Amino acid sequence: AYRSRAAFKLLEIQEKFGIIRAGDTVVDLGCAPGAWLQVAGEVVGKDGLSGRVLGVDLLRTDPLENTTIIQGDFLSASTQLELARALRGSSEEGEPAKLGRCVDVVLSDMAPNISGNRTSDVANSLRLSEAAVGFTMRFLRLGTDAAPRQRKQGGALVMKYFAHPELTEFKTQYLIPYFKRVIDFKPKSSRKESAETYWVCMDLHLPPRHG
Ligand code: SAM
Repeated sequence: AYRSRAAFKLLEIQEKFGIIRAGDTVVDLGCAPGAWLQVAGEVVGKDGLSGRVLGVDLLRTDPLENTTIIQGDFLSASTQLELARALRGSSEEGEPAKLGRCVDVVLSDMAPNISGNRTSDVANSLRLSEAAVGFTMRFLRLGTDAAPRQRKQGGALVMKYFAHPELTEFKTQYLIPYFKRVIDFKPKSSRKESAETYWVCMDLHLPPRHG
């Protein structure tokens, strides 16, 4: 059984977009109580392949087989360092130089505690989104530049956001230029009254250089 109903949101996203594949390395930000870890673990372990799943949360997450869990504030440098170290441990090459882009999928279901003060809620939400994208830009696998038919797709980012105009601008500035596809997706299993939506961003690539 899944640890929370949140599982159904990721299952819907996975069914529609197939973002996680067997053998992938997946990082899940805001992972407690661990339902997305369970879903990701099922997919990466398919076909006898051994992928890796790593999760981070402020709260404790009960241990899960084949999953690395880090408890800490993702906004803190020490937690991010711990995550980078855990990733290095899992990179097949084992060379720190290759650590750079060893992640196939970044998931973020992180949500700030809502205070009711709109200005600070939006600011906190933005801070989490920025941190998730900062991590993604550093560790997510890039698509190759080969001819279209041999081209290997870049990695994917799935990120929760709350529908505020400020965050729409975030998408234009930080996501659209870097991913070939960016889709706003509201899972059926997400409550209608909630402003929560997900950005499903696929195929990371570097934007064309200016000038
Ligand atoms: N996807 C999870 C699952 O399937 O079980 C549910 C995630 S829950 C909606 C959001 C989580 O984000 C909470 O557990 C919360 O503690 C975490 N979170 C919020 N801010 C965080 C931060 N700064 N660092 C780490 N985790 C954070």
